[in-house]
Amino acid sequence: MTGVVEEIFDLFARFGGGEYGEALSLERHMLQSAAMARSLGASNAVVVAALLHDVGYFLVPDSANAIAEGRDIGHEALGAAWLSQAFGTDVTAPIALHVQAKRYLCGVEPDYFAGLSKASRLSLALQGGVMRADEAERFASDPAFEAALLLRRCDDRGKDLAAATPALEDFRQLLVATLRR
Ligand code: FE
Repeated sequence: MTGVVEEIFDLFARFGGGEYGEALSLERHMLQSAAMARSLGASNAVVVAALLHDVGYFLVPDSANAIAEGRDIGHEALGAAWLSQAFGTDVTAPIALHVQAKRYLCGVEPDYFAGLSKASRLSLALQGGVMRADEAERFASDPAFEAALLLRRCDDRGKDLAAATPALEDFRQLLVATLRR
């Protein structure tokens, strides 16, 4: 299954430079998100989830156009589905839910929306808007709820143009160690 790790490196190399409406490349954003998860003491699975949370954008050749045109490609589900060939739900579930986590936080934290990046604010409506109370209640009972919120915080904070960014290579061992046995 280490072939998947090679595929991940290949995807980052080919598509990591792509923009997604943020000033930062996708690769830097994902690496910074993983570094943030590590610095917050997240589990290995959540660090890997942060590193790979936007991999769905790499799987759709058209994703840059889709973003520019305001089409939602469901990158969170695409990425989680692709990663499920090699990683367990401790990695894939928070990825699948990181957009829902944004919708949730917009509903429960008054200041959360204003603190989002411009691209994240713009995509909210496309992603279903602020979560309703009944949806939020259901979401909060998901087994991956806490991990999804943590990943989301790392996602939101992994957009610092000035921050030092680790290399993907720094995460190779962690990726291999986190593969589903
Ligand atoms: Fe992200």
